[in-house]
Amino acid sequence: MSIKDNLLSIKQSLPAHVTLVAVSKTKPVSDLMEAYEAGQRIFGENKIQEMTDKYEQMPKDIEWHMIGHVQTNKVKYMAPFVSLVHGVDSLKLLKEINKQAKKHDRVISCLLQMHIAEEDTKFGLYEAELKELIDSDEFKEMRNIVVTGLMGMATFTDSEYQIEKEFAYLKGIFDRLKEHPEADNFKPQTLSMGMSGDYKIAIDCGSTMIRVGSSIFGSRH
Ligand SMILES: *Cc1c(COP(=O)(O)O)cnc(C)c1O
Repeated sequence: MSIKDNLLSIKQSLPAHVTLVAVSKTKPVSDLMEAYEAGQRIFGENKIQEMTDKYEQMPKDIEWHMIGHVQTNKVKYMAPFVSLVHGVDSLKLLKEINKQAKKHDRVISCLLQMHIAEEDTKFGLYEAELKELIDSDEFKEMRNIVVTGLMGMATFTDSEYQIEKEFAYLKGIFDRLKEHPEADNFKPQTLSMGMSGDYKIAIDCGSTMIRVGSSIFGSRH
């Protein structure tokens, strides 16, 4: 199947409240353009340099999502154009995004990445740390970021039971987070969970945004 066919068949299977991020990391601009021509406007990358190169070469009505782990010293390169940063897992990183966004007179949307997997290699915050961050005075003073929700990655496993347990756990954290009063920089509405192998489970567990790469563009090497 072509990129276009893959994309359209996934899209037509999604409930209306679920947003598809086409994860195009490692793929050439020609592949992204094929998805673009089939109507895709949201692309996810996990390296800032690669995302910036593709941003420069591609049409300007694309929303670029940074889905990977972000190094503080590289935030400045994406600050002019990134539309959503999925993997924010520290106050330090949030402060840097806020600082760089301010230089461009922008407000950058961010998702806080939660630790939900059993593997301890994955990044992310625990619920107590999330609460501490949201309640901190430093957070409350930030004007150039807005936290629009949470992101998480399940354990890499064949066990659907395990994956479902982790996504359900993240949905629980998200529901509790939504009980916090909203603020200009805090508007939780997005729950980013689910990739090629597990997005159907994620949607059943309440995901509103899925990040799909290989099922659209084919496997990566
Ligand atoms: C690569 C990646 C994806 C997409 O993975 P696929 O299995 O190819 O769909 C989703 N989320 C993150 C954070 C990724 O790094």
